[in-house]
Amino acid sequence: PLVLGIESSCDETAVALVAGDRTIIAQAIASQEAEHAPYGGVVPEIAARAHAERLAPMLEKVMAEAGMTLDDVDAIAATAGPGLIGGVMVGLVSAKALAMASGKPLLAVNHLEGHALSPRLADGGLAFPYLLLLVSGGHCQILAVEGVGRYRRLATTIDDALGEAFDKTAKLLGLGYPGGPAVERLALEGDARAVPLPRPLKGSAEPHFSFAGLKSAVLRAVESGAHAPADIAASFQQAAVECLTDRLDHALAAAGPFPALVVAGGVAANKTVRAALEALATKHAMRFVAPPLALCTDNAAMIAWAGIERLATEGPDFTGDPLDVAARPRWPLDPEAGKVRGAGV
Ligand code: ATP
Ligand code: MG
Ligand code: FE
Repeated sequence: PLVLGIESSCDETAVALVAGDRTIIAQAIASQEAEHAPYGGVVPEIAARAHAERLAPMLEKVMAEAGMTLDDVDAIAATAGPGLIGGVMVGLVSAKALAMASGKPLLAVNHLEGHALSPRLADGGLAFPYLLLLVSGGHCQILAVEGVGRYRRLATTIDDALGEAFDKTAKLLGLGYPGGPAVERLALEGDARAVPLPRPLKGSAEPHFSFAGLKSAVLRAVESGAHAPADIAASFQQAAVECLTDRLDHALAAAGPFPALVVAGGVAANKTVRAALEALATKHAMRFVAPPLALCTDNAAMIAWAGIERLATEGPDFTGDPLDVAARPRWPLDPEAGKVRGAGV
């Protein structure tokens, strides 16, 4: 099938046309960095307005580039949550209008499912089940991905997401927004052992993540004036990576083995994170799969692909979601979500 995907849950407006054979036929992505940079973070109202202004011309551009019309498309997939509700509504309402006008089914996609299945778009050889580290701006979870729509959560953060901690560290170091890539760049020039920082929950029997204490320790290190910013960036990144690998080790001991270790989400674009996870996979004799960087951060190809996976899984009679399906600011991937204290889903 050929699916048109729309993503607008945060600060990337994105449109993509993806085919069932994993070809990304055409795509467009517009970042709102310039709009939000003066405020040091994403301003929801500005984001919604920017999505509304850009989406229609981007849709036209992608269809023109593909040399196709909606007649050629089998379904229209849009992020229906979780995310900033104004932006989600812009994308979802546009998809509803396209679905209504074309008579093609609407697929209301969970943004996290888009991240979770993106490695299968990148790698046709990746079969279920796999152990997934979903590490993004709003989430830090370990999931057993047993099939499309079958996600068993093994760990989540009890406070901040790791992407959030990267962004906060960037802000404290005066690196501005967006923070993750800036921290990664500065860390290249620093000594990862220079600044003593905590590794929250490392070695804990509790199967979760915590990054609030690390964030506070970075704040204290900055305020002390005793360290070079590059050393703080490198030490922060090292502490974060050790938390990730320790918690994955714990999850593997508790729920493993899995044939493959997979990482997805914006923080998966980080090369130090990728290298550490690859080493962990090797240690456990697992395959390691990480999507290319552009599929890690928010994009519409992963939303279209999640739609393709749902079409394939839900059978020939599946006609998609009703046109009155709601946009959801919160939408956990697995049924156990919310039962963990402070779970940020
Ligand atoms: P969610 O997917 O949880 O709803 P989101 O969509 O805002 O949140 P993503 O776009 O998946 O998140 O990821 C963005 C996050 O990834 C930001 O916090 C950003 O700082 C982080 N990030 C992006 N690139 C890197 C990098 N190279 N190193 C570290 N972090 C990064
Ligand atoms: Mg973004
Ligand atoms: Fe995301």
